Amino acid sequence: MEYEAVIGLEVHVQLATRSKLFSGADTTFGADPNTQACGLDIALPGMLPVLNREAVVMAVRFGLAIDAEVNCRSVFARKNYFYPDLPKGYQISQMDQPVVRQGKLHIMLDAGTSKTVGITRAHLEEDAGKSLHQDFQGMTAIDLNRAGTPLLEIVSDPDIRSAREAVIYLKKLHGIIRCLAISDGNMAEGSMRCDANVSVRPVGQRAFGTRTEIKNVNSFRFVEKAINHEIERHIDLLNRDGTSVQETRLYDAAAGVTRPMRSKEEANDYRYFPDPDLLPVVLDQRFIDQIAQQLPELPDARKNRFIQHYALKADDAEYLATDHELAAYFEAVLQAVVDTQQSDIQQSGARNGIPVSDTRGERVAAQYAVNWVLVELGARLNKDNLTIPQSQISAQQLAQLIVRIMDKTISGKIAKNLFHLLWEQGGDVDQLITQQGLQQLTDSVAIEKIVAQVIAEHQQQVEQYRAANEDKKPRMLGFFVGRVMKQTQGKANPAQVNSVLLRLLS
Ligand code: ADP
Ligand code: MG
Repeated sequence: MEYEAVIGLEVHVQLATRSKLFSGADTTFGADPNTQACGLDIALPGMLPVLNREAVVMAVRFGLAIDAEVNCRSVFARKNYFYPDLPKGYQISQMDQPVVRQGKLHIMLDAGTSKTVGITRAHLEEDAGKSLHQDFQGMTAIDLNRAGTPLLEIVSDPDIRSAREAVIYLKKLHGIIRCLAISDGNMAEGSMRCDANVSVRPVGQRAFGTRTEIKNVNSFRFVEKAINHEIERHIDLLNRDGTSVQETRLYDAAAGVTRPMRSKEEANDYRYFPDPDLLPVVLDQRFIDQIAQQLPELPDARKNRFIQHYALKADDAEYLATDHELAAYFEAVLQAVVDTQQSDIQQSGARNGIPVSDTRGERVAAQYAVNWVLVELGARLNKDNLTIPQSQISAQQLAQLIVRIMDKTISGKIAKNLFHLLWEQGGDVDQLITQQGLQQLTDSVAIEKIVAQVIAEHQQQVEQYRAANEDKKPRMLGFFVGRVMKQTQGKANPAQVNSVLLRLLS
């Protein structure tokens, strides 16, 4: 039997407000335990909550960004349960009247197709404290710094069909909340946490299968692994005796498996009821409109602009536009290309490159920038485990490199060496080119001389080449190109070398 996975994600995003959702305590991460919890957060009797306006603004920003319904009236409810890190005995959350409902998020799948994932709801709630088990033998310690930190819980429709899709959805969501500056989205620090609901059904069946919920997976990689493991486990169960049980499970990253945490029978009855200490949140249309006017350019709009303006391929545009910092770096490179070309013209008259002041030139520059940012820079950042703000090469330096490729001062191959030199020791691109004598050889007379010399020195290979089948020739040409490049220390212009070689060999 063939099965299909059905997945819905619940994502908790810690909102980047300075103070907590209902108290004035600081929310900065990493402070000494219990130094950022006030009377309300430690549940002193008689303390009253006061709603943080900024958290509501952030929730509305998110709702507008995913094209959702923003509810003009939402209600805070008490979700009752006992846990040591929840001294009040209840969490303030929203139940049947959340602030945001029915949004959508567009994702692009690997094969270049796209898909829309529905977002059922997004609601405001407070985070709990932390129970610490390490360093306290035989005891549990409680840190209430996190208690009361605002969370936005974003619940997707069960529209996701694979672990891979789940990760793409999460990365897009991450890009949107970073772009909106409502959270830093740092998964390692718990600013973005994901619960994955997973079920499987026979292909063609409409009804959903029984689901399990995997709690608190804290990296994109683990989300993918945990879901894949869970899908396999479900299929295995169904193949054996046709049933799986609804339960909550935990992902054990070290073992790569999920383990049961609680079953439906043990599931809590939270006895939700409207919090009598808080009034319903009533938003008027003007408040919502004002927030709408202040929205930044969002990833999808940015992607479309990249495609229309720079003629980028859709998947490159999506990749760049989803990551706020990557997109900003890419555009800074392009701006610096324009600036570098302009200062070239002022200093020494125009060089022979294509000016980016016209559309064609701009698109050529954009394609160079995409390739360098996504391939060379991307690989280097990955290798050193760094993010864009930690890049050892500034947008200005990369732009200068690209301009020197475009005006044929250096070859692409030399540029790659120069890129790594810049990364290691920094410096000025033009100075390094002069100091190290990296200028490309484009003098056609000089190139012809070297090509002729290489041909004269390799008569045997020349005869083999001439006798060879046409389809073998391109590969055999590589031998001669290699010799010419060796002679010129890689500096000969490859296109020129190729055409001179073809002419002299035929
Ligand atoms: P609860 O409140 O008990 O967690 P919800 O109905 O709110 O349950 O659903 C929580 C999440 O589970 C949502 O993201 C939803 O899309 C997803 N979900 C619901 N049913 C299924 C299913 N059969 N298979 C996979 N995911 C599901
Ligand atoms: Mg749930």
